[in-house]
Amino acid sequence: MIWNPAMETLPRADLARLQLERLQRVAGRVYERVPLFRRRFEEAGITPGAIRSLDDVARLPFTYKRDFRDEYPFGLFAVPRADLVRIHASSGTTGKPTVVGYTRADIATWAELCARCMAAAGARPGDVFQNAYGYGLFTGGLGMHYGGELLGLTVLPVSGGNTERQIMLLQDFDVRVIACTPSYALTLAEALAARGITRGSLAVRVAVLGAEPWTEGMRKEIEAQLGVDAVNIYGLSEVMGPGVSIECAEAKGGSHIFEDHFLPEVVDPQSGAPLGPGQAGELVITTLTKEAIPVIRYRTGDVASLNPTPCRCGRTHVRMSAVLGRTDDMLIIRGVNVYPSQVETALLGLPDLTPHYLLVVTRPRTLDELEVRVEVSESFARGLGGQILGDHPRVGALTDQCAQRLRSMLGIGAQVTLAAPGSLPRSEGGKLRRIRDERRLS
Ligand SMILES: [Zn+2]
Repeated sequence: MIWNPAMETLPRADLARLQLERLQRVAGRVYERVPLFRRRFEEAGITPGAIRSLDDVARLPFTYKRDFRDEYPFGLFAVPRADLVRIHASSGTTGKPTVVGYTRADIATWAELCARCMAAAGARPGDVFQNAYGYGLFTGGLGMHYGGELLGLTVLPVSGGNTERQIMLLQDFDVRVIACTPSYALTLAEALAARGITRGSLAVRVAVLGAEPWTEGMRKEIEAQLGVDAVNIYGLSEVMGPGVSIECAEAKGGSHIFEDHFLPEVVDPQSGAPLGPGQAGELVITTLTKEAIPVIRYRTGDVASLNPTPCRCGRTHVRMSAVLGRTDDMLIIRGVNVYPSQVETALLGLPDLTPHYLLVVTRPRTLDELEVRVEVSESFARGLGGQILGDHPRVGALTDQCAQRLRSMLGIGAQVTLAAPGSLPRSEGGKLRRIRDERRLS
């Protein structure tokens, strides 16, 4: 079901016209009303009137996460404070939160986009919807709540956590649609299994999962264990909250960005230069319709690529890939951008390997070298008959297979070293470092 067919299936040429008109308008608004943007435009030597085509967006200055911090709390707002009907904030890891606000019209737009998402995921008016995203200053809960109501779902605002209560509601209220983070979906699935509750005894069929990166492997597991169609929803509070893009249930192949409201680009994280379709880089979003806190070319820090090919669901809006990583995790090796998650993707699906790996970058002379150390599975190690990972032909074959996959994914060669099970570093609560950069660059 397509919630707003007129907009979601708008022919590309019409969409581009609408985007240009809206881009010109939003650029004019921020130039007039937000001192930071006026300053940035002046530094870049551009005025809103100079925007003649969509390509001109590349001449506009970027907006960064740190701008929200520097302008805390209300410096980025393009409307008087009294026009805000809602404020959300995300907790920063250090110091002050990132503050965003919404006018009445912004709330209506947000609800519409979340309704589009729920419909694309497979929710239908009348369905019971268990909303297990956090409520409060976090945008997840209330964003999905308003979208669910607009679509005509019966919303259960259960919020996150409290697995016992989640399970009770799932069982007793004929819940057909659930929204939460993918990792919480796995937690729920395990809790259900531990209680002997089978997927057949539940009515749930649709899972709208997001707010953290996840993999195809997780999707398969969640779908098998819960008996649902699981699709990705993407958003970030600086741009709006959930509802910036959604995977359609038909294709489950990348998330449609609602281009009548957002103008997406992918740029090289280092140079800021625009990248083409299919090329992975930093996702950059300009809001086209937001009133309270429009952003121009916001650097999301999320690494993804754009796929403009038509989708079988009929939506004409471009699809973004799964988030491949964060720009802060990026390595530049021989001039090529490499993300740890690409390594994971390349090696995923080889049954003889585990998800434990380490990237070691060195520069023995003048050229960077990448070594990928990856642990083999217990059964692979046992199959070698006690022989340490050495000259066994199976070791050579697996190493070659890994190297081939890495070359086609990364575009550069890497040395592969197979490691014994349990030998690589594990997460100890904090963030696991997958990278050891041993280059001496001074
Ligand atoms: Zn689609």
